Amino acid sequence: MKKNKRKVSVIGSGIGGLAIAVRLAVNGFDVKVFDSNNQPGGKAVEFSVNGFRFDKGPSLLTMPEKIDELFYIAGKNPADYISYSKMNENCRYFFEDGNVIKGYANPKQFANELHKKENVPRNKTLRFLRRNEFIFNSTNYLFLEKSLHKLKTYLSFRVILSALKIPWLNLFSSMHTVNSNTFSNPKIVQIFNRYATYNGSNPYQAPAVLNSITALEFKDGAFFADKGMSSIAKAIYKLAKEIGVKFYFNSEVDKIKVGNGKVEGIIVGNKVIASDIVVCNTDIHYVYNKLLSKEFNVRYRNNQERSSSAIIFYWGVNKIFNQLQIHNILFSKDYKSEFDFIKEGKKIYSDPTIYINVTSKKIKSDAPKDSENWFVMINVPHDNSQDWDKIIKQTRIQIINKINRVLKTSVEDYIICESVVDPRSIEIESHSFKGALYGTSSNTKKSAFFRHPNFSKDIKGLYFCGGSVHPGGGIPLVLSSAKIVEELIKSDCERK
Ligand SMILES: Cc1cc2nc3c(=O)[nH]c(=O)nc-3n(C[C@H](O)[C@H](O)[C@H](O)COP(=O)(O)OP(=O)(O)OC[C@H]3O[C@@H](n4cnc5c(N)ncnc54)[C@H](O)[C@@H]3O)c2cc1C
Repeated sequence: MKKNKRKVSVIGSGIGGLAIAVRLAVNGFDVKVFDSNNQPGGKAVEFSVNGFRFDKGPSLLTMPEKIDELFYIAGKNPADYISYSKMNENCRYFFEDGNVIKGYANPKQFANELHKKENVPRNKTLRFLRRNEFIFNSTNYLFLEKSLHKLKTYLSFRVILSALKIPWLNLFSSMHTVNSNTFSNPKIVQIFNRYATYNGSNPYQAPAVLNSITALEFKDGAFFADKGMSSIAKAIYKLAKEIGVKFYFNSEVDKIKVGNGKVEGIIVGNKVIASDIVVCNTDIHYVYNKLLSKEFNVRYRNNQERSSSAIIFYWGVNKIFNQLQIHNILFSKDYKSEFDFIKEGKKIYSDPTIYINVTSKKIKSDAPKDSENWFVMINVPHDNSQDWDKIIKQTRIQIINKINRVLKTSVEDYIICESVVDPRSIEIESHSFKGALYGTSSNTKKSAFFRHPNFSKDIKGLYFCGGSVHPGGGIPLVLSSAKIVEELIKSDCERK
């Protein structure tokens, strides 16, 4: 490992904070990570109750090679730390008319399923998926791997090549417009529109370039973390400690100390931790409003739309539901109305789309015998001081009624324990402004460019990684942000 005496303080040990800690430690920096929580992982933590284990936040793993890379650069074998497997069926889709569509990972198998169940020509599905893969391959490098805020990025050959493909990248129509022009069947449109929710966006507003998200699942596949999603954070944390990163939990950072336009350190309680470099893994809104003094707030655009949030019920269920698999979606009858409610931001649509994740289908120890651990989530607007207690009560009834209707059961008879999370608790626990799951939304074609850069233009030595800054939320993107920050820091240090 290279020697580098520079001291780095990382604020937050979410997936992004852990990843940048590893990357900088590998480069020989002296890295300390501070988290107000009592454990690493941020949103990606777990909890257990009455013999049921639940992943609290993320449940779907894509692009695991971005996790593996952290182990490879540290000279370790990822398989010694984490294990995951490729899924054959990414998701099972349930509709109110009783139809069930299996979301096979293999494009040909999926095309056959859509043909069998809804008479969609196989070629149409395959052509659509191939086109989305083309969009992904054309945009991935610019939007996910590089800083959008450095001139150097735009001088690269790959970026110039991407720019030449702009007319074919569906930047100027909404996802829904493209999907409904491609498929006449509303169920198929709904299945493909759903991918906008992977980063908390609205398919009726978000540009169709986001159809490239399907490529994550149909090109490389969706994966299952064999010991739960929280094992990702645990594995990176273990690696970070082994390579010399020091962690301080229950340590809320109060301020970032700045002098002469440069970071000098962080303040934790009454202690100053001298630092040459500070990397914030906290929500960017929180950085400007709490951690920095007001003079730096001028450049911060507070008006960017936040992504959607969620209400999640974690149910211990004492029955095996054979019709469910690991990831399941019970679609609303009217997707447009559901998103209109989210956009309007006050009430919750009475027939929400329900996502049910059951990890005990594969990890038997996640639930007692003959039982299942249900993670039941609906998308809701971010916090706007709605009456969440009232909403949770109403929504719980609507969710139960819908599950009973679609799965032909009486699920409330089998719920033996329950915990609930809403936008308020998401904000309190991870300091995510308004409880947004994915930072800012991607609802306009300019969203990517307006998202905060990974560095401060005003304060030397201050960098940002995590879901609220470029390239955005979700585990793969957060891992990309750490890689971008590593490149920026290395290049800034070389210039000195
Ligand atoms: C319910 C839910 C479902 C999701 N589903 C998926 C999914 O299926 N797939 C997917 O890829 N992504 C999903 N996501 C998004 C994904 O979880 C996040 O994008 C990602 O985990 C965010 O990581 P992060 O690095 O930004 O840090 P965060 O997880 O936001 O963590 C930030 C950390 O900073 C700490 N912190 C904040 N302020 C301070 C301070 N002042 N001092 C010290 N520490 C501080 C917090 O305690 C926290 O530990 C989901 C998120 C949620 C909430």
